[in-house]
Amino acid sequence: MHPELRRDLWVALSVATVGGLLGSVFGHPVVGVSVALGLLITLLFIKLARLHRWLVRGRPAPIPELGGLWDEVIREVHKGDRASERHKERLTGLFDRLQAAASAMPDAMVVLTQRDVIEWANPPAERLLGLHAERDAGARIVHLIRDPAFGAYLAAGDYHEPLILKGPVDPLAVIVQIIPFGAREKLVMARDITHVKRLEEMRRHFVADVSHELRTPLTVLQGFLETFADLADAKDDEARSAIALMREQVERMRRLVDDLLSLSRLETTPARAHDEAIDMAAFLQGLSSIAVALSAERRHAIEVEVDGPDLIGNAEELRSAFTNLVQNAIRHTPAGGTVRLSWRADAVEGRFAVIDTGEGIAERHIPLLTERFYRVGSDRARASGGTGLGLAIVAQVLLRHDARLVVESALGFGSTFTCVFPSSRLKTGPLRSPVSPSAV
Ligand code: ADP
Repeated sequence: MHPELRRDLWVALSVATVGGLLGSVFGHPVVGVSVALGLLITLLFIKLARLHRWLVRGRPAPIPELGGLWDEVIREVHKGDRASERHKERLTGLFDRLQAAASAMPDAMVVLTQRDVIEWANPPAERLLGLHAERDAGARIVHLIRDPAFGAYLAAGDYHEPLILKGPVDPLAVIVQIIPFGAREKLVMARDITHVKRLEEMRRHFVADVSHELRTPLTVLQGFLETFADLADAKDDEARSAIALMREQVERMRRLVDDLLSLSRLETTPARAHDEAIDMAAFLQGLSSIAVALSAERRHAIEVEVDGPDLIGNAEELRSAFTNLVQNAIRHTPAGGTVRLSWRADAVEGRFAVIDTGEGIAERHIPLLTERFYRVGSDRARASGGTGLGLAIVAQVLLRHDARLVVESALGFGSTFTCVFPSSRLKTGPLRSPVSPSAV
């Protein structure tokens, strides 16, 4: 037993005994004990009231002196108080330091509640996102960042890929990443990438300028080589094969320069400027004629099928992209194989596919095909006369038409390259009657 408790019990027993003795003097010992215990209980209530007042209002000081076990209780409560006070101070200090670190960061940070309301923002959020920490706290972020791309990104809920946005002032460009945390709260981070965009622009212009400048010397070289070929001594095998090799290489360089120019034009000119409804039946017939010409004596079977509404887009760009797919199919399909051109569209989407029965592509290459200069087996591709830029051009054209490229292939069993267009790219109106597969 706690010594203070033992002492308090002794005091209570003594008071009761004294009360009993005094009561016996007057012939009422029970009354004496009752009065003594009553006094003790009253004292206990007074101490309890003082303790309560201290707990409710008087903390942390002054500490009441109640004596005995009461002082022990007060000491323990006070100790707990001090510990939680210190803990609170430590947490507040940590929070202040974290806030100071977040404020010192060059990147913008914005904390959003579950309902996408701004709870806190650091100072760079003003420059990069146009959000003011105090003024905008409590507002919904989509009411302040008005770019529809940001609203769509926030609503989609898939934050694996970052989003590139224009900053509040020109020419600021920012990359935005949303990080969900806690109970559906979000942290929005934004970084200034203006200099990266500027470098990217410089690279694009450099490639375009160099390609453009290379065109004239190549044309001159090509012209002279043709003249040399005509003049070369028919008996001089070495000279003839050297000239043939030079012509072949110059031709390769010309194709490369043309593809580089096409790519940079696609990257630098605004999309949708020349969109029109394309008569897909006529368009595919045109492509099939190109396929026949490319196939020449290899005599592939070329099939065409058209079903569904027409496509809306830039005919020149789409012709270049689709021709690339047709060219690849003919290149990589042995003589006598089949190449099918198909356009199928319904209310949901339109699909242009080039299906061949050629050599096919191993699965590991498929995700990399649209990268610039990516080739499946460099010897095979170089021998086929490709530049390695064809599918990069296709991807860029599709990007400008809100479309995507789907590649299905199995080594030895042929490939299917499908361009999938959203319904917004289809001309609504009476459906055309289907043109069934026909050999050309
Ligand atoms: P290239 O101009 O060299 O053909 P592309 O970007 O058009 O470059 O194609 C990239 C690679 O994809 C090429 O190396 C080629 O081997 C492969 N490829 C493209 N289309 C087909 C196809 N229909 N069948 C088999 N391989 C293909």
